[in-house]
Amino acid sequence: MFNTDCLIVGAGYSGLVAAERLANKYGLRSIIVERRSHIGGNAHDEYDDHGVLVHTYGPHYFRTNAERIKDYLSLFTEWHPVDYKILSYTEGKYWKFPINLNTFEQLIGRDSSTEEMEAWLAEKRIPIESPSNSEEVIISQVGWELYEKFFKGYTIKQWHRSPKELDASVCGRIPIRTNRDDRYLRETFQALPKAGYSRMFQRMLAACGDYVRLLLNTDYREVMSQISYRHLIYTGPIDTFFDDCYGTLPYRSLRFERESFDAEQLERRIEISGREGFWQPAMQVNYPNDEKFTRIVEIKHATGQKTSNSTIVREYPDNFGPGKEPYYPVPAPDASALYQKYQERTEALTDVSFIGRLATYRYYNMDQVVGMALMTADKIGPKLQTGNS
Ligand code: FAD
Ligand code: UDP
Repeated sequence: MFNTDCLIVGAGYSGLVAAERLANKYGLRSIIVERRSHIGGNAHDEYDDHGVLVHTYGPHYFRTNAERIKDYLSLFTEWHPVDYKILSYTEGKYWKFPINLNTFEQLIGRDSSTEEMEAWLAEKRIPIESPSNSEEVIISQVGWELYEKFFKGYTIKQWHRSPKELDASVCGRIPIRTNRDDRYLRETFQALPKAGYSRMFQRMLAACGDYVRLLLNTDYREVMSQISYRHLIYTGPIDTFFDDCYGTLPYRSLRFERESFDAEQLERRIEISGREGFWQPAMQVNYPNDEKFTRIVEIKHATGQKTSNSTIVREYPDNFGPGKEPYYPVPAPDASALYQKYQERTEALTDVSFIGRLATYRYYNMDQVVGMALMTADKIGPKLQTGNS
């Protein structure tokens, strides 16, 4: 029998941050059990066979407005600042995206101004006082034409439901601007860990020394009976924890298709990419309408890696099912109602904390799960410490 203060299920952001704080702030021991063969959860990155640093489970653009979270992660990484910029490809051309004054000029085929764009949008907008779904949130800002060009097809492909059946927050994530700011994200701090996410996670784990033991390639249910612990931190899917007793929650999965190119092949793409050593003209190109995939990511644009090869990843939305990863909880009223039933069951379990994207069934970004893990450590750390003394 192994003895520990905390058993932590999952070595993603949530599990690692909680373990690190419990160790270094509260002197508490943890065992982390991770089903996959690596740490970092969905934020994991790796060098592929062509020497290109890729984000294994889709692009991860770190951003935050919270100084506290940036400062915390800065204990384990330096940063490579990035203005995340993307394009959208439809009707045979690349469009500036998210929608901004440059996009409007492409649409009308001549130079324009913020005032003209605002006047145009004022005519197109469908007045809706408080948009309650993802269709309403977009048509109330830009009207039907731009909604259909950039949002409708992408959203149906990604979620396999109508935007009307998704919370307003889904499409509401995408900024719409009438100036020339064409950054994809709104947050004040936008940067990638300088040596990659995996390196940052390795440092986090190393900082715990003997206080944390890690078991990879292991489902926690296989080892639970051999571990004696005082508190459980669970970061896996909440429905699985309760044996799907109310039915499976809806998730969306993804299939990633990688393709790599050497310098010679990239040279032949230069008219499209506009830059030596790259395959496409931006870090991410979205395909709202024409293809089965939603986006092609060439992360080398963002990492700034100096290499003559490049790798692109096509991202195909997929139904969730056996053998597939539950990448996205579905932000929709029916899914929230089912989640609520599971959430109620967690309230009786005072020695278990449910944190992270899957255990709280929330479409959380990385900084949000870091914040949640920090709070959890500060909540349970002092209690467990008292018990130890
Ligand atoms: P996870 O990373 O999912 O970690 C949970 C871990 O638990 C997993 O490693 C899993 O294998 C393990 N686990 C589950 N069940 C068990 C079990 N039974 N036994 C043992 N281990 C188990 N966020 C951003 O801020 N910016 C972005 O650009 C961004 N892009 C994203 C793109 C995609 C395609 C996806 C899917 C997510 C993106 N995110 C992004 C969100 C980000 O990935 C999450 O916020 C973050 O990784 C969540 O961390 P977590 O620890 O809660 O969950
Ligand atoms: N979206 C869209 N068209 C786009 C980009 C995004 O309709 O070109 C919608 C789509 O529903 C998507 C959501 O906005 O799921 C959030 O997009 P984001 O790029 O933030 O998604 P993530 O990176 O989390 O997959």
